[in-house]
Amino acid sequence: MTNRLTIAHVFPALLGTYGDAGNVSVLRYRAEVRGIRVSIVDVLPGDPVPATADLYVIGGGEDAQEMRATELLRADSGLSMAVHRGAPVLAVCAGMQILGEWFTDGSDSRVAGLGLLDLRTDRRSVRAVGDVIADTTGVLDLPTLIGFENHRGATSLGADARPLARVLHGIGNGAAEPVEGALQGSVIGTYLHGPVLALNPALADYLLTQVVGDLAPMDDVRAEEFRANRFQRARA
Ligand code: GLN
Repeated sequence: MTNRLTIAHVFPALLGTYGDAGNVSVLRYRAEVRGIRVSIVDVLPGDPVPATADLYVIGGGEDAQEMRATELLRADSGLSMAVHRGAPVLAVCAGMQILGEWFTDGSDSRVAGLGLLDLRTDRRSVRAVGDVIADTTGVLDLPTLIGFENHRGATSLGADARPLARVLHGIGNGAAEPVEGALQGSVIGTYLHGPVLALNPALADYLLTQVVGDLAPMDDVRAEEFRANRFQRARA
């Protein structure tokens, strides 16, 4: 077990709707409580993406920022190198779309993504907005996921990407299958905001465990209260 962790926060200035930056805060907090020292690299647009970070976090964003981030990431090999050596990545909403093969922009043209996830994103006729509840049984076997979605994307998975979860409430990926997110090797994509790791601390611990090994249990009373409150609201 290592006691140090470097997290690359990719383009928080472009991608970070609905408090997605909080995902990095949650990872830092949950690591530090376990005695792990955390360094965070905020990658600014124009900066190279470090290839050697332990864990990568990318948030969601509006269409224009998503396009800009895609151009920058396509011109930079850092993230691809990290994925090819198996570094864990959490990519939320636009972040997930960018990591796929392609997504469609506001004028319905296809924009090439990074090809790190075997998925393709078309546009829905209506936005998917609201709470999502999804079950990871048989995939990561985590406590039921909950989060908030707001996207036009309809994401279809290819054979190399598994759905992260089965949708119990809400839309999720919004293509034919009622599934949410994607898991391919060390990369997790999800449509869930919330921030997703604040609402689903077990997912944060899953990501940390990929880097540092088994984690000591910690007091999650506040997180459980937060989750219970959101489940109640989602089901109301
Ligand atoms: N712009 C993308 C969409 O609408 C992603 C949105 C987001 O990241 N919240 O599908």
